[in-house]
Amino acid sequence: MADLQHPLVYASWETRGYWEGAGRGELVLQRCEACGTVQHKPRAICATCFADAPRSFVASGRGTVHTYTVTHQNQLPPFAAACPYVMAYVELEEGPRLLTHVVGCDPTEVRVGMPVVVDFQPQERTDGEVFGVPRFRPA
Ligand SMILES: [Zn+2]
Repeated sequence: MADLQHPLVYASWETRGYWEGAGRGELVLQRCEACGTVQHKPRAICATCFADAPRSFVASGRGTVHTYTVTHQNQLPPFAAACPYVMAYVELEEGPRLLTHVVGCDPTEVRVGMPVVVDFQPQERTDGEVFGVPRFRPA
């Protein structure tokens, strides 16, 4: 089982801050100043009350496994080399759930409710910028 090398991310004008933050080792979420909702994925507006410009902040990076699956077969590179790997929804301490990978343990050790902490896989891009892909490991 090799470490999953995530395909290069696409950073839109809405998501660039998220990927840049991950490149610095920071999990960046947004909080709406009108209604207080914390949201992920990054958007130009609050998905709850439609207020403009939710404010970005650095999250704790702590959460728990909400649900998961272990992928044993995937023929597509780069996923094939990483089998078996764990896809999971991690419920962040701040509330949002993030679709991600759980790494740093045997897939058979992952459990619903397991405490996890964020870990970043750096992605150096051809333009010299460094983004990162958030994934989680046991706390
Ligand atoms: Zn709102």
